[in-house]
Amino acid sequence: MTSKTILNADLHCHSVVSDGTLSPEALAERAKSNGVELWALTDHDEIGGQRRAAAAAKAHDLRYLSGVEVSVTFAGQTVHIVGLGFDAEDTALQQGLHDTRGGRQQRAMDMSESLAKAGIQGAYVGALKFVGNPELISRTHFARFLVEAGVCRDTNEVFRKYLTEGKPGYVPHRWATLRDAVYWITQASGIAVIAHPGRYKFTPNEEYALFTEFKSHGGQAVEVVTGSHTPHEYLKYAETAKEFDLAASRGSDFHSPDESHTELGTLPFLPDTLTPVWELLADRIQ
Ligand code: AMP
Ligand code: MN
Ligand code: MN
Ligand code: MN
Repeated sequence: MTSKTILNADLHCHSVVSDGTLSPEALAERAKSNGVELWALTDHDEIGGQRRAAAAAKAHDLRYLSGVEVSVTFAGQTVHIVGLGFDAEDTALQQGLHDTRGGRQQRAMDMSESLAKAGIQGAYVGALKFVGNPELISRTHFARFLVEAGVCRDTNEVFRKYLTEGKPGYVPHRWATLRDAVYWITQASGIAVIAHPGRYKFTPNEEYALFTEFKSHGGQAVEVVTGSHTPHEYLKYAETAKEFDLAASRGSDFHSPDESHTELGTLPFLPDTLTPVWELLADRIQ
C-alpha cells in the first residue's frame, strides 16, 4: 500500500492576480509539466484568479483545490494563513478579502514617500508597472521596480535593504485578525492552514500562542514542506503538526521563474507519519 502522503501536491503559489509573474493558465501548464498531481493557486488576499485556475487545471486533467493566502497580523507580526477547498463564490469570504486588500493602496503611497526620503524617486509609479491587479499592489512589485531601476541586483537584496522592518521603505501595516481569517475560510467550507511557520520571528511562547489560538478558531493544518523551509524545519514542523494534531500541507510558494528558488512540484514528499491536508479535502477536489 502506498502512503497517502506520497502525492505530488503543490498547494501554494502565486499568479499575476497577486504578486506572481505568470498567469493562472501558465501556472497550470507548468504544474502539469512538472508532474504536479494536485494543485492550488493561492494568491494573496484575492480569489479573482480561481475560476481561471480551475478551468485551466481541468483542461490539463490536473486535480485542483481552490486556494488563497490571507495576510494576518498576530503578535505584532505578519502571518499568512492559507485557505484550501473553500467555496470561491462565498460572499463573506469575498468581503473579508476585499476589506483586507483595502489598505494596500495607501500603504504603497506611504512606502513610495518613505523611499523618496531615502533618495529613490518615483517608486509608486514604478511599482505600478509590475502590478497585474490594481487592488493588489505588494512589496514584491516595489522590489521588481528597484531591481529594474538598478538600485539592487535582485529582489532578495531589495527586501534585505529596503522593504523589511527597520529599513527605509518599510511601512508597518495592520492586516486581518487570525480569528477573522480562519473564520472566513472555514465558514466557506474550506480548511485553514498556517503558511510557512518557519519564516516568522516569534519567540517559542509566541509561536505556541499562534498554534493554540489558530486551533481554537478552527484551523486544521500547517505547511510542513514548503519552499520557505529548510530540511531541518520540515522535521521541526512535522513534530509541531503532531503536537497540535494538525494535518500537513505541501507547497512551493512559487512566484516567478526568475525569482523563485523552488520550482512548482519539486519539493520532497510529506513525511509519511503525517495526515496530508488533502485527506481532509477529498470531496472538495475539482
Ligand atoms: P506584502 O503582502 O505586500 O507585504 O508582500 C509580501 C510578499 O513579499 C511575500 O508574499 C513575498 O512574495 C515577498 N517577500 C517577503 N519577504 C521577502 C524576502 N525576504 N525576499 C523576497 N521576497 C519577499
Ligand atoms: Mn508573495
Ligand atoms: Mn506567505
Ligand atoms: Mn505565498
